[in-house]
Amino acid sequence: MISPEKIWSSDQLPTLPAVAVKLLDLSKNPDTDIKEVIETIKADPAITAKILKASNSSFFSLRSECKGIERAVPLLGTMVVTSLALSFSLSESAITHGPLKSRFDSYWKQSIIQSAAAELLATKAGFDLKYDSFLIGLLQDIGHLAMLRSIPTDLLSVLEQAEKEQRETVEVESAELGINHTEVGVKMMERWQLSEQFQTAIQHHHDSVAQLKTLESHPDFNLIIIIATSAAIGDYFCSPNSGLALQKLQDLTSEFYNMPHDDLHGFLEQVQARFEEAAQIFAVNMDDIESPFEIMAKANEQLVQMTMKAQVDTTQAFARQAVIEEQKNKLESENKQLQSKAIHDPLTKTYNRSYFNENFEKELYSCSRTAQPIGIIFSDIDRFKNLNDTYGHQFGDLVLQRVAKVASDSTRRSDVFCRYGGEEFVIMVNNPSEKGIHDLAERLRKLIENEVIEFEGTRVPVTASLGAVVGIPPRDLTGFAERLIAEADEAMYESKENGRNQVHIRSIITKDDQELHKLIKRCRFSRWLVTKAVFDIPTISKALLKCPQQQTQTRIGELAIAEKMISEDGVSKILELQQLKGMRFGEIAIQQNFLTQEQTAYLLALQVEPPIVLGKTLISLNLLESAQTAELIKQYLAEMKPCSIPAGEHQNQLANS
Ligand code: GH3
Ligand code: MG
Ligand code: MG
Repeated sequence: MISPEKIWSSDQLPTLPAVAVKLLDLSKNPDTDIKEVIETIKADPAITAKILKASNSSFFSLRSECKGIERAVPLLGTMVVTSLALSFSLSESAITHGPLKSRFDSYWKQSIIQSAAAELLATKAGFDLKYDSFLIGLLQDIGHLAMLRSIPTDLLSVLEQAEKEQRETVEVESAELGINHTEVGVKMMERWQLSEQFQTAIQHHHDSVAQLKTLESHPDFNLIIIIATSAAIGDYFCSPNSGLALQKLQDLTSEFYNMPHDDLHGFLEQVQARFEEAAQIFAVNMDDIESPFEIMAKANEQLVQMTMKAQVDTTQAFARQAVIEEQKNKLESENKQLQSKAIHDPLTKTYNRSYFNENFEKELYSCSRTAQPIGIIFSDIDRFKNLNDTYGHQFGDLVLQRVAKVASDSTRRSDVFCRYGGEEFVIMVNNPSEKGIHDLAERLRKLIENEVIEFEGTRVPVTASLGAVVGIPPRDLTGFAERLIAEADEAMYESKENGRNQVHIRSIITKDDQELHKLIKRCRFSRWLVTKAVFDIPTISKALLKCPQQQTQTRIGELAIAEKMISEDGVSKILELQQLKGMRFGEIAIQQNFLTQEQTAYLLALQVEPPIVLGKTLISLNLLESAQTAELIKQYLAEMKPCSIPAGEHQNQLANS
């Protein structure tokens, strides 16, 4: 990147001599007297001589030879002599020595080619733009001249880079310098106060075909196209990237001039003849410019290579994409593995203690809200140290794996089985009854006892002692998790002390909770469906397992209001008391006589097992139809809803407490 100031503050920028400035002023005014133009030119003898020489060159092919400027000016017209004067002034800014000489020479040759091409294109298209086109064609790369003079080193490196990478010069200029020669050219036109038409045409001379197509309604569209095409012709003859130039030229001529590619060659030969004539005016030798025929061969060769390179690039891009995709997949799977490692025990592949702790906490919280029981089973392999000592540590590991497998395989998905440490396993049991958890523990004990584990072909008996606990978490969970674990551990030690290979169960559910829980169970929609003989227990159990797990439960206070059991005020009072006492909503509602135990159980049953959720599941399992389900739910609600406490009674109760 460069600072544009570096260009604009340079004292090397090309300038216009007084005669050119005066002629430009005169040519803008249609009423200008031709005599004034002649007088202006005559003031500069060098320019006078050059214009006279030009008027007699084959470029203008005037019928008779002009002996004096007085005759030449009216024949050529004000516009043409102005153009010539301007062009001659520019050729004065030649760099005649040093490393920049060859760059200036090719800039100037290309400008001449472009002006001749622009003039021919205007004639070919039948536009009255011949001399405008000639001059703008000549000036279009003035930005390059300005940059060559003000920031030669920067420009040279950009030109070399564009050649090496086979890219358009403007593109590399913008990328590397932050400014390109079309922008500089437009600014020069502004400085010289040349018409807006000049600025517009120069601004767009390197636009792509797609960009040019958007300018179709521009008043100077024809001129814009002529100049853009002349630029591509200039590049074709002079740029080392003739392949790129040929492609652009083919696109432009077929889009805007309806010129088939085959005709392009002939047209380029006309251009060559024309610029050789123009070169005479400026006394430039164009011999080193190759013929269109020679260039075409080179350009086609470059095009083939560009196409091949593009194909290679695409293939490489595909390959790169595949590598990226593979890396992404690898990272994702590594991540999954890491996550899995974090929660699994490496030896038995069951969950580890930290996973258990995290889930235990969540489950306790949820059960405390809904007054649901939670169960913990502790299992400890009997005389495991002996096994290790007798058969070796490796055999001990095998025993751990086998016991873990057989036990975890037979627990439900809603239960969490994990290795708690050493040869201890723990299972968190979802919503168990006392009998249920006993049966599960007993089943596990038998499975372990019956598992055939052999050492060198001989069966080694393996047993475990189990202890379990069920509890309903209170609203205030402080110390409750530790209590459950300790109770399960103690129950397990009871099994050890009583001779091992047995199960002991404890319940820490309070009498009130036990009663409430029984009532809740009785109130549940699933239970009601069984008592009404709509479904048998196995069917309803399966359906319950398929029920989507609720992310958020409706608050019991909201349910109570919806069921018109407690007023909004009543709910607010209960919530206030809850903050104070750290008890469950239902407990306070019963204590304060807002609800009976039956009503609390009914609401809790609706909360833990919303009839709509079970109903939808039964429909999705094709076990019920919608209308039937709606009817059953209606009937269930009507039958199960306990009658409310007479209004006012809880108010008295509140006053008393
Ligand atoms: P009890 O019936 O009273 O439970 O007796 P026990 O021998 O099973 O109990 P104790 O707690 O004394 O011994 C447990 C042994 O488990 C001690 C320890 O070396 C072994 N152990 C702990 N982790 C592993 C393990 O990952 N692999 C093996 N092979 N042994 C383990
Ligand atoms: Mg043990
Ligand atoms: Mg132990």
